[in-house]
Amino acid sequence: MALFVQKFGGSSVADAACVHRVAQRVYDTKQEGHDVVVVLSAMGKTTDNLIALSREVNPQPDEREMDMLLATGEQVSVSILAMALHAMGAEAISMTGPQAGIATDSAHTKAKIMGINPERVVENLKKGRIVIVCGFQGLTPTADIATLGRGGSDTTAVALAAALKADRCQIFTDVDGVYTADPRIVPAAGKLDTIAYDEMLELASLGAKVLQSRSVEFAKKYGVELEVLTSFERRPGTIVKEEVEDMENVIVRGVAVDKNQAKVTIQHVPDRPGVAAKLFQELAAANVNVDMIVQNVSEKGQTDISFTVPRDEVNRARSTVDGLLEGIAAAGATYDVDIAKVSIVGVGMRSHSGVAYRMFEALSTNKINVEMISTSEIKISVVIRSAFADQAMQVLHTAFELDQES
Ligand code: ADP
Ligand code: ASP
Ligand code: MG
Repeated sequence: MALFVQKFGGSSVADAACVHRVAQRVYDTKQEGHDVVVVLSAMGKTTDNLIALSREVNPQPDEREMDMLLATGEQVSVSILAMALHAMGAEAISMTGPQAGIATDSAHTKAKIMGINPERVVENLKKGRIVIVCGFQGLTPTADIATLGRGGSDTTAVALAAALKADRCQIFTDVDGVYTADPRIVPAAGKLDTIAYDEMLELASLGAKVLQSRSVEFAKKYGVELEVLTSFERRPGTIVKEEVEDMENVIVRGVAVDKNQAKVTIQHVPDRPGVAAKLFQELAAANVNVDMIVQNVSEKGQTDISFTVPRDEVNRARSTVDGLLEGIAAAGATYDVDIAKVSIVGVGMRSHSGVAYRMFEALSTNKINVEMISTSEIKISVVIRSAFADQAMQVLHTAFELDQES
């Protein structure tokens, strides 16, 4: 007998028919003699709709209230699934994140899980029940409800799997695994049988939303073996696990795009010690997540500094930077939201040379201009005009021989 954590995303529980399908799947796992903890997202587009509703009454809603609102979505799906399982004669109980013992920090709308006390979950498993937990939410130290950022139910599932020492964490979604690129953008993308934690972590942080990146961090840290698979058919998915030797034979495992980026450029910044420190200190204090940073060669004691931020933080970045311009004696700043970040990822980059050359050549042959570059041991990212994002994905997918014949 094993313990499975099974997570189903929004499209897997979009309506009553989907809920029945999920109930059957969970029921079958239980009938095979296993214990099952289910983690659910809100039904279909519920979270998007709740966000839109909040904006109708207040363009900048309070974040604590936002979490109170968003957490309701998952409460609907867990109770509905429990009812569907009861109708099949199964014993099941639904729980909110707080009831399942999930403790978070106080960063409303992007909280981090700080710990899990799974006592109540374990008690119910012992009674032979299927336990169904709301994804995406937990309780702060001040007993407020907090949510974990978009896609956060993945993280709830992996964190629960780690806390319960589950045998496997299965992430059921609307694609049948992790692909070499988002199959909705690159039709020739192919499904991967396995992928290393580090590669998945890079892909997820660089825009492949099939898993929330924090869920992969948890999986790697606690050695949780993850499987990503479809909830619509019964077939094996992709296993995310520790790297094995022959994984380095493939240079690029996948390509990712992040269209939610913006570029800030500060012109004619005096080139002297302390200016960059001051700038990035203030941005950090304003809770702006700075990613790629490029500083031009200094000319006449002045330089331009560009950096990227998540698009939804660009207004916060603007208030901070505009407020600093005079103090640091810079000429001005521009804010560009028409950019995208395209990345190639693979542990094979460690042992192969000429990867950057191949990437830049493929882009330049297709007249796609590279505006910024950043690299790590296993990834190369470039910033380009957003209008070319999908084309760049295709081009790189082909250049690194990832295309599958259909
Ligand atoms: P869920 O609601 O089940 O959490 P998501 O929409 O968050 O599902 O994630 C699944 C989607 O991720 C897919 O429909 C696909 O378009 C997208 N995606 C992006 N990159 C990849 C990739 N490399 N492999 C598979 N899917 C990807
Ligand atoms: N319902 C939340 C969202 O849409 C959490 C999740 O689906 O993982 O982001
Ligand atoms: Mg998701």
